[in-house]
Amino acid sequence: MLKAFIDVPTDSHFPLQNLPYGAYQTTDGEIHLCSAIGEFIVDLFVLDEEGLFDGPELNNQFVFQDSTLNYFMSLGKPAWIEARTTLQKLLSENNPRLRDDASLRERVFKKREEAEMVLPVQIGDYTDFYSSEQHARNVGSMFRDPENALLPNWKHLPVGYHGRASSVVISGTSLHRPKGQIIPQDAEEPVFGPSSLLDFELEVGFFTGPGNNLGEPVPVDKAKDHIFGLVLVNDWSARDIQKWEYQPLGPFLAKNWATSISPWIVTMEALEPFRAELPAQDPKPLDYLFQEKPTTFNINLEVFLKTEQTDIPQMICSSNFRNLYWSMTQQLAHHTITGCNIQPGDLYGSGTISGPEAHSFGSLLELAWKGTKPIKLTSGEERTFLEDGDEVIMTGFAQGKGYKVGFGEVRGKILPAR
Ligand code: CA
Repeated sequence: MLKAFIDVPTDSHFPLQNLPYGAYQTTDGEIHLCSAIGEFIVDLFVLDEEGLFDGPELNNQFVFQDSTLNYFMSLGKPAWIEARTTLQKLLSENNPRLRDDASLRERVFKKREEAEMVLPVQIGDYTDFYSSEQHARNVGSMFRDPENALLPNWKHLPVGYHGRASSVVISGTSLHRPKGQIIPQDAEEPVFGPSSLLDFELEVGFFTGPGNNLGEPVPVDKAKDHIFGLVLVNDWSARDIQKWEYQPLGPFLAKNWATSISPWIVTMEALEPFRAELPAQDPKPLDYLFQEKPTTFNINLEVFLKTEQTDIPQMICSSNFRNLYWSMTQQLAHHTITGCNIQPGDLYGSGTISGPEAHSFGSLLELAWKGTKPIKLTSGEERTFLEDGDEVIMTGFAQGKGYKVGFGEVRGKILPAR
């Protein structure tokens, strides 16, 4: 097994097999791209400045001297693999280059818990899918008809909508409860006020790489070449605003006020050992979406809630990225079939990831079943939706033999409405 010259605890999310990408603010106020190993971040700007990314793809490209990953993402798989291989070699226990250079090490490694992480990508567009069958069934059962919970299109195409990129924020960002138009029970006219049905959505998002020219769809069997890596996503939702506004064009202000992502982008190369089959798709999708064996990844996902009355976050959901119906490559093929162009640094959310068991539902709407089954917390409190001061913490990891490939966490706290 690959081993770093830095000690990595076995339960760490960031062993040498992971090497995710992020960005942090240096003490001089500059933004540097970085990776993570054990308890440390690895400053990629410094390594690049030293000329250590000298393979055929990256030599003289200075990709890690940018303040975002967009250019690196645009280069595609050969460059991504070369960067990963170079970094793995530089950090491995039997390579003296960095290991034995104390002054370089000093500049490269920073304590991860002290680093102020920032968004590592200039996100051009954000799209959110709706690809967990259990989630779609739960919502369909609650708001329409349990007998016909899925709408007729659901098993024929990955349903989605175009979200808002400008309000994608990094983990740790606190958010004010949004205000909007809400229709009170049995009322005919809406009122204006703070949302009282505030929710999280447990999702995983992918960032795209090179992309396609306008008018040229990405075929489903080529789509994987355009997927750079994954992050955890909390797609915050104001259910009462959504209920009034969503017909006939879908979600708008209920969703556009904030989407939180984890600071580390875990690459597809790191996740490859955890590839897992999706359930059989019936009916058979149309040719442009058809895959013999659509796949996803076995990633454990957990949601914790911390209220103001307690210091200990309580786990309220445990799900898995496998709980989806459509693959990421099918989502991308569908997204581009019209000729819509995707670009380096675009973000695509999976949709709320709910599994079949009640504890695996990925939103409070489902966990507390539309407010009818309040969640009982060990503090004695109950929750149907989020209250001011509540903090939602999501984490995720793939379990290897003796190591984890993890995402760290995405956390966000709800502040009172302004
Ligand atoms: Ca969503």
